Amino acid sequence: MPETYLKFQSSPSGRHEGKKHIIIVGAGIMGVCTAYYLVTHPKFDPEKYHITIIESKRVASGASGKAGGLLALWAFPAQIVPLSFDLHQKLSDQYNGVEEWGYRRLTTVSLEGDLSHLDDEEDDEDEEEEDEASSSNNDGSSQVPSSRKSKTKLPQDLNWITSSLISNCSTLGGTDTTAQVHPYKFTTFILKKAVELSKGSIEFIIGKVNRVQFSLETGSATGVIYQPSSLNKSDYSPESQTLSGDQIVLTVGPWTSKILPDCPISGLRAHSITVSPFKDQSVSPYAIFTEFKTGAYSYISPEIYARQDEVYVCGEGDSAVDVPETTDDVEVVKSKCDELFRQVGKISPNLKRGHILKRQACYLPVLDVPSSSGPLIGETNVTNLFLASGHSCWGINNAPGTGKIMSELLLDGIVESADISALEPFLYFDASVLISDDEEDYDDDDDDEDDDNHAGDDEEEEDEDYYRDPTETSSETAPSDAEWSRDA
Ligand SMILES: Cc1cc2nc3c(=O)[nH]c(=O)nc-3n(C[C@H](O)[C@H](O)[C@H](O)COP(=O)(O)OP(=O)(O)OC[C@H]3O[C@@H](n4cnc5c(N)ncnc54)[C@H](O)[C@@H]3O)c2cc1C
Repeated sequence: MPETYLKFQSSPSGRHEGKKHIIIVGAGIMGVCTAYYLVTHPKFDPEKYHITIIESKRVASGASGKAGGLLALWAFPAQIVPLSFDLHQKLSDQYNGVEEWGYRRLTTVSLEGDLSHLDDEEDDEDEEEEDEASSSNNDGSSQVPSSRKSKTKLPQDLNWITSSLISNCSTLGGTDTTAQVHPYKFTTFILKKAVELSKGSIEFIIGKVNRVQFSLETGSATGVIYQPSSLNKSDYSPESQTLSGDQIVLTVGPWTSKILPDCPISGLRAHSITVSPFKDQSVSPYAIFTEFKTGAYSYISPEIYARQDEVYVCGEGDSAVDVPETTDDVEVVKSKCDELFRQVGKISPNLKRGHILKRQACYLPVLDVPSSSGPLIGETNVTNLFLASGHSCWGINNAPGTGKIMSELLLDGIVESADISALEPFLYFDASVLISDDEEDYDDDDDDEDDDNHAGDDEEEEDEDYYRDPTETSSETAPSDAEWSRDA
């Protein structure tokens, strides 16, 4: 259901006319944090500026509403992590994040073990053994057979994990370096605040942006072309509309290359579940990275994050299905979610006896270049076209920092809060390319078609400027497991 403070329209109100108009495409956590830091920037004046957010479906309907929400000072990239980690704390202090979006500090551990000897029957026996053990001793390790004793003890209060199955436990971060948020609650709260503080200068359009509009004379971005929809419709109008703007910011995560085909950002699907523990009891605050052997050559590594009232579990990424048209078209494979539940049930009797609250899947925005793990933040090589995308598995962590950086760039023209020189989009791709290589091959025989597909191509010889040399940037690197890895 749409939040009541948001009034989505299909067409612009016209209130942007006569003001500097900033268009933000995508209402995930990046678009929302950009809007928030814009309206709280000292230079922002609602009389002079207007912000339009265009979203194809709903606020936080992609990864920003379905992520784990782990925050860490040891995340990447180092240029923005300290800034963003600190801003998360400040936002929580300012708006009671503890209550509003489940902000809290917690401990992160990495667990290793061998589950290959467990079949489902033995699993049940273990559970009974462990229950007996934990009823007399929270640690549980002292009363299990010595052959199963953990080589490295679990922290005493991590009593919802079967310690006898753990061969190694190492601490990745304590409460000084690790925290968490509920990403959906965070994103929707910050948007609500941005709307309140904007004094009417933020408006929402529901529609799918297909293209950036360019000036034929200058080559700079002048607006977007989108297909409107409405909240009670699942499809889009076939009639495109154009919305003019002075600065265009793309915050569409894994969908970026659908608008800018040369951009080397792709999507990697990941499934997750939320679980209500046994008898709805809360479990101690730990974020847990795992690596468990399940067979001679097989391993599983679910990530398990305790939240105040539930436990979040996510699995590894799979590249089986390309990024679909919209967040509503993301395919959720029930068996993958059920398998996650079975996996965590093996190491936690408490979760095994709990129940699944949500089965979901979403796409991680991955930067496919060998030299950087992203994100891309800054102005592209097309004047007035900006990008904040490709945050990989640390987008929740890095969103406030990204929003602040974008606000400085858009309103001051210079970024003071962080050094983003290695993250600048123009280092990685040509934003003026408007058709993908595949389409280009297809269009080779049809010169007339080409004319419609180039920014500012009013003269024949300008064509070269709008086609990249395929050897310049590699967009062919498949997303690897390493790119998904959050290890410190
Ligand atoms: C399973 C999983 C767990 C994760 N856990 C963590 C974690 O614990 N900590 C952490 O820091 N990060 C985590 N992440 C990463 C984080 O979720 C992402 O980096 C972040 O949410 C990306 O935000 P975004 O706003 O760029 O993209 P998205 O959340 O994908 O938002 C993009 C928005 O753009 C809209 N859109 C797309 N195309 C168009 C268009 N053409 N026109 C208009 N609107 C459009 C979409 O509808 C969507 O609302 C996780 C990711 C996954 C997949």
